Amino acid sequence: MKRDGLLDVCALIVAAGRGTRARSDPLDRMPKQYALIGENCVLAHTVKVFMTHPEVRHVQVVIHRNDRELYQNTVASRCDDGSNKLLEPVFGGDRRQASVLAGLEALSSYNPDSVLIHDGARPFVDHETIDALLSKISKFDGAICAIPVCDTLKREGGKGTIQETLSRTGLWRAQTPQGFRLTSILEAHRKAFMADKILFSDDASVAEWAGLKVVLVTGRESNIKLTTPEDLVLAQQRAVDMPVGEEKPKIDVRVGTGYDVHRFAPGDHLWLCGVRVPFNKTLVGHSDADVGLHALTDALLGAIGEGDIGTHFPPSDPRWKGARSDHFLKHAVALVRERRGDVGNVDITLICESPKIGPFRTSMRQAIGNVLGLDVERISIKATTSEGLGFTGREEGIAAMASICLVLPA
Ligand code: MG
Repeated sequence: MKRDGLLDVCALIVAAGRGTRARSDPLDRMPKQYALIGENCVLAHTVKVFMTHPEVRHVQVVIHRNDRELYQNTVASRCDDGSNKLLEPVFGGDRRQASVLAGLEALSSYNPDSVLIHDGARPFVDHETIDALLSKISKFDGAICAIPVCDTLKREGGKGTIQETLSRTGLWRAQTPQGFRLTSILEAHRKAFMADKILFSDDASVAEWAGLKVVLVTGRESNIKLTTPEDLVLAQQRAVDMPVGEEKPKIDVRVGTGYDVHRFAPGDHLWLCGVRVPFNKTLVGHSDADVGLHALTDALLGAIGEGDIGTHFPPSDPRWKGARSDHFLKHAVALVRERRGDVGNVDITLICESPKIGPFRTSMRQAIGNVLGLDVERISIKATTSEGLGFTGREEGIAAMASICLVLPA
């Protein structure tokens, strides 16, 4: 939604500095805006905040001439959403002021009403701060984020001794973003350049010098400029809860289901869920006919899209005659492990009138837990009759259903 009097806004992010103060290794000459916080560099985090703000039409980044490839690989490739919102970077000058002027000249061809000028090394700026500025820019020549000074201020008189205590009344620490009408701030910067006034430390100073009316908007302490190695360490610790534009957690959750049936034949025991159950019948099959483990194996294979148990162990292959079914299950688990997957939980339902499952439930959960490397509390084994209906009701065989949840890295 556009505010009254605000046509549109572009962001200008200044990242042409060579600042290496924030790098603790003196041999590492990479500028601090390209240091990693989590999986993205500082500048990419900063750019994403403006890229995801709905009122910002274009984002113009000013970089150092030598950083073109670095910028392409670590910022543009991660922030460009294909919408042409992120403009081609322009090259900055020797000083911040020259870099801002280069960016403003580039943006002027897009003719935005307003511009938000921001330091590339302030990745923790948020949308609320931007909104607060935008609401002021429509009423004044400019508005900047700033924090009232609350520490007591001392002037040093040499050799670490205090000369005097200053009044902090009315003092603020300026941050960025700093927002202005584009034509006003561009004209102010051009005028300063022509007058050889090139040592202003922020854009509000340029605007003030040019006679523009700039107001203060209370910013946030969290919007720090990363300057020292300690700042970077703190920023990296914060990376776990980065605010805007950060990727979703990199996990891939899968589910799988399996179903199997084996029929009864005369006998004295059968295998169910990896446990030998004494019974007056057995289950017939090419292998040991463990209907529970077969359903579970199919569920695992299903979750990773690897076909079914028959694909891997064809009944026509004599090697699997009489085979123990935990061999099939181990094979499916190995395929999951190859993909660095973890089983979250297992839920099996056995459908039969008899044998009674209850007495064997604990050892069945343990047997499956041993193969899967999973706590028994994540393994459920349930049993139900089918009220005398159907083939299970007529006690012609046992059916089993299994569901599993898998977590894979994305
Ligand atoms: Mg089977």
